[in-house]
Parts: sequence; C-alpha cells; structure tokens
Amino acid sequence: ASDTASGAAPEALEVLRRVFGYESFRGQQQAIIDQVVAGGDALVLMPTGGGKSLCYQIPSLVREGTGVVVSPLIALMQDQVDALSELGVRAGFLNSTQDPDQRREVERAYLAGELDLLYLAPERLLTEQTMRLLDNGRIALFAIDEAHCVSQWGHDFRPSYLGLSELHERWPQVPRIALTATATKATHAEIASRLKLEEAGQFVASFDRPNIQYRIAPKNDPKKQLLNLLRTEHAGDAGIVYCLSRASVEKTAQFLNDNGIEALPYHAMLDDRTRAANQARFLREEGLVVVATIAFGMGIDKPDVRFVAHLDLPKSVEGYYQETGRAGRDGLPSTAWLAYGLQDVVQQRKMIDTSEGDSAHKRRLATHLDAMLALCETVECRRSQLLAYFGQTGEPCGNCDTCLEPPQSWDGTIAAQKLLSAVYRLHHERRQKFGAGQVIDILLGKETEKIRQHRHDQLTVYGIGTELQDGEWRGVVRQLLAQGLLAVEGDYGTLVLTESSGEVLGQRRKVMLRREPEKAAKAARVSKS
Ligand code: ADP
Ligand code: ZN
Repeated sequence: ASDTASGAAPEALEVLRRVFGYESFRGQQQAIIDQVVAGGDALVLMPTGGGKSLCYQIPSLVREGTGVVVSPLIALMQDQVDALSELGVRAGFLNSTQDPDQRREVERAYLAGELDLLYLAPERLLTEQTMRLLDNGRIALFAIDEAHCVSQWGHDFRPSYLGLSELHERWPQVPRIALTATATKATHAEIASRLKLEEAGQFVASFDRPNIQYRIAPKNDPKKQLLNLLRTEHAGDAGIVYCLSRASVEKTAQFLNDNGIEALPYHAMLDDRTRAANQARFLREEGLVVVATIAFGMGIDKPDVRFVAHLDLPKSVEGYYQETGRAGRDGLPSTAWLAYGLQDVVQQRKMIDTSEGDSAHKRRLATHLDAMLALCETVECRRSQLLAYFGQTGEPCGNCDTCLEPPQSWDGTIAAQKLLSAVYRLHHERRQKFGAGQVIDILLGKETEKIRQHRHDQLTVYGIGTELQDGEWRGVVRQLLAQGLLAVEGDYGTLVLTESSGEVLGQRRKVMLRREPEKAAKAARVSKS
C-alpha cells in the first residue's frame, strides 16, 4: 500500500502486471478497481472464477493502509495468505487457528503499517478488541467476501454478517467493497440494504459460463451412470461429485476406486486432518476426483476442474449454480451433470416438512426447491432458465442437453387424471398410506402379494394405466410432484392430493409433461416401423 493514490488507473494496471503477472484486466475489474481506489463503495456480483479477488487486492495495494478482508472461510485463509506472500504481497490473517504469539505478530505488523492485506472472520472483526486494533492502524478499505452470507433468503446465511453494517457507521470514510458469486435479484437487493450499499457502485457481471455444458439426466442407477460419464467423457480428468449424505459420499468414492478411478471422500464427519489432506491433494495433483457433500468447495480455486456431477438434487438453483461453477474456471470445455429422480423429490419434500423453523422458513425452502425442480423439468434451454433465475436473459445456448437433444413435451392430462384418481381412491377414500410404487403397480394391474393382500385388484383404477411403462409412470409422478399437483406425506412417502389436483381431476387444467429424449427417440422409431 503506497502513498500515491492519485492517477489510480495507470497504477492499478502497473500492479496487475508487476505483482500478479497478468497483461490486462478482465470484464469489469478495471471499473471496479477505479471506483474503490477513488474511495467509493462497490457491490460486485460476479460468477465464480470471474476474478473477484483482484478487485479488492489491487486497491489494497494502491491505497494507503491495509485492506481488511472479511471472509467466512477460516480454513482457506492460510492458503490465501501463502499465495499472496509468494507474489511478494504482505498479507496476514487473524483467526482461532493461531496461537497468541502468531496473533501478536500479525497485530504488530498491522500497527506498523507492514500489511497490505489482513483477513478476518466477521465474528472476530466485530469484537471491540479488534475494532480498537483497526483504529490504531490505517485501513485502506473493507472487502466483504461471500457477501451473500448476509442474506437470510440465501442458503449460506451467517448471522454474524448482519453486524457488518456497523463498519460504515464506525468508519464512514473507508471504502467498502462487497463481493459474491451468487445473487438473484432478491439477494442482490437484500445485500445492498443490509450492508447499506444502496448508494454504492453496482457491478453485475454476466452469470453465463458458456464453457460449461449443463446436463440433467433421469436417475436410474446413479453410480453406474456416473462411471459411464467419467469413462466415456472424462477419463483422467479432475472433477467433483456431490452427494447429499455422508454415507453416499463414502459409498460412491469406494465404488469409483473399485472401478479404477482414484476418488477421495470429503464430508464434515471426517477428521480435520484427513479433510485438509484430501483437499490439498485435489488441488495439487492432477486428475483426482473428490466425492463430497456440499461442505466442499466454497472458495476452492482449481482452474482445471473438468466436471461437476450431482448424484442428488441440490436444494436450490443458487446452490446448484455455485457448485457447478467450480467447473472450468480456466474457460475450457467442462461438464455439469446432474442425475435426478422421483426419490429426490420425495426425500426433499420430506426434509422440508420435518425441518425445524417456522412456516415462513419452510415456505422459503419450498420456493427454492420448486425453482430447482422447474429447472430439472424444463423443455427449454437449461442455460436460459438458469440465467433467467439470476435476472439475466439469453438465447438458447446450443450447449446444454435440452438444446443438443430437445425433449418432447406431451399432453399428460389423462395419465395425470388416472394417477390422481388412484391416489384419491387409496388415500382419501380408504385412508391407506402407500407410496408411488404401489400406486403405479395398481395402474399397471400387477399381480403382487401386496396387491392381493390389500385387495387393490378390486379398485376401479386397477389396470387402467397399461399404456405407459413403469419408468414412464415414475416420470409422471415426479413431474406432478414438481408441478405441485401431487404431494408426499409422512415417513413412507405417501402420495396425497393437493389443492390443485382438483383442477386436473375436474378437467379444468391441462398437464404438459416432459418426455425424456431417449424414450422420445425410441417411441419415434417404434411408430415408424
Ligand atoms: P473468483 O474469486 O471470482 O472466483 P478469482 O479471483 O479466484 O475468482 O480468479 C479466478 C482465476 O482467474 C484466478 O486464477 C485468477 O488468478 C485469474 N485471474 C483473475 N483476474 C485475471 C486477469 N485480469 N487476467 C488473468 N487472470 C486473471
Ligand atoms: Zn441450452
């Protein structure tokens, strides 16, 4: 941090080249840096890999004093500081992993004006002790990283972020820059108001990641489907596989290793050392696969992740976008692949029902899930739908599964009526609790023990659905659940009707369903011969 703040732009460019070794600024970096160097506030929405770090690192070097970086990622502070030190930038952090001596040394360096950047967790920053320390030195700027953590609507809410509005009150002269890779219009507005950044320069980059190919496939045998993807398209590539539970992380990692693909597990129940070691290997070695819960990845900067695979349905589009955004930071072609099935919908609806929190909280979770389901069931371009979610528009992209292999939609009104009638007979007339499997068996007129035992072959709906196959009926159930025309209840995933079901049963509503591409192709072949 030098004393010459005048002539900001040329100096920023000089720092970019001399310190970071890059030729030119990307996207809006220059404009953002100019704004902050000149003492203005900025709110930056830029996708993962867009180059947010330089937006506060360079102003910290150009402006007098130390850039104070607020980050929730304590585990990554050491890495960040090491990387900066290698470039000759004087950086330090204060957090709970240090012993008192190390902390005192960082505090001394700050007070002596020997630090360009100081990383802090929000809880620490907001203590009176730290604020007094900061007062006794010189602050170049505040950078608030992962700013979406202030949003109660979002999926990473951290209560301590709410306190950060105090920075402006205590240090009105110090410029602030808040950055995030995940922001819908609603989150953007929430960040601005909670951090008092309404008057700040707003820098919203395009959220499109054209090099990532988005694909969402029906889930049959997810581990085998994954193996097939890795063998046919990503042999020897580094990638991340996300699973919902620790148990499936372990099983999937084992399965890949058994099949000759080196895979490391990562989840919250592993001890710190194993976790850190697996993460370090993934970053340093080539061609490793990490199988992880969503605990993995925030702040991970590995440019050549070639694929991100989800074996379970993410809880929100924002989470999905952020997780898939870890692929292809180097701009080379990469794959975001998601396997999604009926069981995902059942399970997630159940998790929302049984989650703690008031009804507003549950409604919020349900809204997030609905948007995710809409993305899975769309017959339109996946990318356009994703970007629309972030308030941005786009043409059909030509690089997602629905663009490459357009699915057909079909009029599923009659199928829906049959299914909803069966649910009505079982649950609402007879008060019997059955999941999708039994309802489908009834429609198909199967002769199973369970059918005989409950005399389901006596029902008027028995055997009325033989025009579709088992898998197709599962698709119908899944899509009706996604569209809110059907719901699940209780521990066994009992199917029940919703308020809107009546519109379908009463012929007041048409139901359009998505036909999976392979099946569409098969159907076309059959009808021709
Ligand atoms: P984000 O924090 O937005 O996810 P990073 O700040 O980690 O992104 O930057 C992503 C990658 O792009 C990093 O490897 C970074 O060094 C590189 N990068 C950033 N800005 C530039 C630039 N102007 N020229 C070349 N590479 C850049
Ligand atoms: Zn597309």
